[in-house]
This record gives sequence, structure tokens and C-alpha cells, in this order.
Amino acid sequence: MLFSTILLAYDGSKAANKALDRAIELAKVTPGAALHVVHAFEFPRFFIGEALAPLPASVNKDYYDLAVQTTEEVKKRLETEGINAKIELLQGSPAETILKYAKDNAAEVIVIGSRGLGGIREFVLGSVSHNVVQSAKIPVLVVK
Ligand code: ATP
Ligand code: MG
Repeated sequence: MLFSTILLAYDGSKAANKALDRAIELAKVTPGAALHVVHAFEFPRFFIGEALAPLPASVNKDYYDLAVQTTEEVKKRLETEGINAKIELLQGSPAETILKYAKDNAAEVIVIGSRGLGGIREFVLGSVSHNVVQSAKIPVLVVK
């Protein structure tokens, strides 16, 4: 068996959708493989001086709703493909959350986009993909 537990890091970006295509291909060529999809979200934090400024609940709700929407997109796509996957929406910083999830679930490969939703175009890797490649103990497939 190639990779029996595949972890896709998904943020809804173009590269993450290309990574999703690859993760689907990997899952399809490995009968019985488990596909896990992780989308990490964080509530925004604003500081005034050193004090954490409270945010209106509606702002936090917007962030959460967007995160839910992102997981719904990937869920729909996987249903269309007829692939059974576990889709997780987890709160925390993305790279840390992805790496911990990979470890806790004995993932054998992490599939990730090279870039995401933000960042500066001139860099080849975003900070999340950079940190995941840097710290992962398992193979990482970075999709451009
Ligand atoms: P930066 O975030 O450093 O400004 P960026 O947004 O261009 O840069 P990354 O965030 O590193 O680049 O995104 C690279 C890949 O990492 C994405 O294609 C996706 O696969 C994964 N990723 C990014 N953010 C998340 C997240 N919140 N949850 C899960 N996976 C993520
Ligand atoms: Mg990003």
C-alpha cells in the first residue's frame, strides 16, 4: 500500500484545491486508504498596546461561518467523487494544528498547497507550507 492514511491541509485556496485533486488521486489508487482533511481556523486577535482588545461576537461568527463554508466546499467535492473522508474543522494555528493532527492520527503523507489565501507572491512557499515541510516527520507532497 502506498499511503494508507492521507492528510490534506485545506484552506480553500487555488493551490489547496490542486492539492485536493492530488489527494483524491492518491486515495483512489490506494484501496482502503483513509483520507483526512483538516482546516484550521483562528479567531482574529487585536491588541491595543499589550492588551487584547475584545472583538464583537458578530466578527467571530463571520470567521467561524467562513471556516464552516470552507469545509462544506471540500465535503461536497469529495461526495461528488464518491470518496469517504473525515473532514475536520479545528481551532488553532494552521501549521501546528496540521502537524499535531498528522501525528495523532498516524498520517503517512501530508498533501498541502504551496501557497494559500494570503502572503507575498514572490515566495515559493507560504508560511504554513514552509513550517509543515520544515517540521513534519513524514513525507509532504507540496502541490503548486
Ligand atoms: P501566508 O499564510 O504565510 O501569508 P499563504 O497563505 O500564501 O501565505 P500558506 O498559508 O502557507 O500560504 O498556504 C499553503 C497551503 O497550506 C495551502 O494551500 C493549504 O494547503 C495549507 N493551509 C494554509 N492555511 C491553512 C489552514 N488554515 N488550514 C489548513 N490548511 C492550511
Ligand atoms: Mg495562509
